[in-house]
Amino acid sequence: MDITLTPSGLRIILSNTINPQIITKKLVFLMTTILAFLLSSCVLLLSKLARESVELSQRKCEELLERVCSTCGSEHLIKNGSTHHSKQKHQCKSCGRQFVVNPTKTTVSKEIKQLIDRLLLERISLRGIARVTQVSWSWLQEYVNQKLAHTPRQIKVSEKSPGGLTIECDEMWSFVDSKKNEVYIWLAIDRDSRKIIGCFVGDRTRKSARKLWASLPEIYQRCAFAYTDFWQAYKTVIPHERHRAVGKETGLTNHIERLNNTFRQRVSRLVRASLSFSKKLNNHIGAIWYFIHGYNAELAKT
Ligand SMILES: [Zn+2]
Repeated sequence: MDITLTPSGLRIILSNTINPQIITKKLVFLMTTILAFLLSSCVLLLSKLARESVELSQRKCEELLERVCSTCGSEHLIKNGSTHHSKQKHQCKSCGRQFVVNPTKTTVSKEIKQLIDRLLLERISLRGIARVTQVSWSWLQEYVNQKLAHTPRQIKVSEKSPGGLTIECDEMWSFVDSKKNEVYIWLAIDRDSRKIIGCFVGDRTRKSARKLWASLPEIYQRCAFAYTDFWQAYKTVIPHERHRAVGKETGLTNHIERLNNTFRQRVSRLVRASLSFSKKLNNHIGAIWYFIHGYNAELAKT
């Protein structure tokens, strides 16, 4: 560096080795880096503060929800065990509602729903299905109830020629709600196709036999020849000339008796000595019709 005194003042000349442009660039770079660092620190700090305040308000919300029932507003709550995911369950002592604060919402995939639809046609209890598919028990109950409620309660048959139609009818017992409450399932099958063509669920009276007959597609009511057991109710309902009451030993009602076994083997609500019978008649009837449609669809495939 040269320093010279001139009449106009002091003149400083920087030596060749130090380029002022480079120094300026370096200074600018340094300043920019510091500025960027400060800015990013500010952003991080602000987002952390925002997150903490959201978490705090969520926690406060949850604490409030844990103290008050959202259905009836009562503060009379007790702890009531925990869910599969270890979340605290609460129960309101005033209205009886059970709930989990801030439940983890999971959507059940289409594939799982299709699997459940198929499992419903096998002898597996609903608890078993919930365990296998890992869906929540309450979700499964709601899903199955909806499905059964929307299951059609009649059978559509393709065009039949009126000649040579033969059917077998029978009634089997089942339980609804308790083992004291017997409910009969009246069934009719087409002997040739083996498809179920009629069903009624009710008591064992003539009125129920009439409802079974009324559930048959019209062409069967007009033309089919029916084999049944000796139960009196059939006699009064099926036209005499197209009805024959026979004993088991004749083998003429083999197909329908075999079907009754299939029902007991595959519908968990009908399994002998089972604990998994239906609590509600409507679900019971829905489950039977659900099985009938599945059973007929399987026969159609073969
Ligand atoms: Zn309540």
